[in-house]
Amino acid sequence: MTKHILILSISILSIFLFSCEGNGQNRLTTESDHQHFLNSINYNSIMAKSENSDKIVRSEEEWKSRLSSEEFRILRKKGTEIPFVNKYNSHDVEGVYVCKGCGEPLFHSDTKYNSRSGWPSYWAPIKEDAVMETEDRSFFMVRTEILCSTCESHLGHVFDDGPEPTGLRYCMNSAALHFVPKEDS
Ligand SMILES: [Zn+2]
Repeated sequence: MTKHILILSISILSIFLFSCEGNGQNRLTTESDHQHFLNSINYNSIMAKSENSDKIVRSEEEWKSRLSSEEFRILRKKGTEIPFVNKYNSHDVEGVYVCKGCGEPLFHSDTKYNSRSGWPSYWAPIKEDAVMETEDRSFFMVRTEILCSTCESHLGHVFDDGPEPTGLRYCMNSAALHFVPKEDS
């Protein structure tokens, strides 16, 4: 009888442990899974998107898991990358630049120009509400910081010394962007 109770107890305990282990809700997305998600973004479907996605809120732990330490420093800690030697400064291919944090479209190559600043520069976002602005008073300057409106990651700053038609220069960090090339149809 005691033996049966013991076996029953072990069985219940096993089921309990197994179900805890089987609960994958807290699993963090790895950097390679996140990169795989970004690589799966298709140019035509992103261009056909008419509305912004819902806001994305992630824990610091989740962001650290998804991003490289350099991307985390820039996107989540408002860092700035080194000019000229970054990925998209001299990148001149037709396509869309999406947010490295969430994959939402931010800038089209049609608005990219050579600002000679050393960072990828655009005269307008892909849609007015793709990005949001906030005042940045760091380093004894008053600048307008640009964030992704979907995941609120730091992208760069906007200045009023850009070319026509807007006169604006969206000065972005390459590490905050992921490029999706236009596909030949
Ligand atoms: Zn984003």
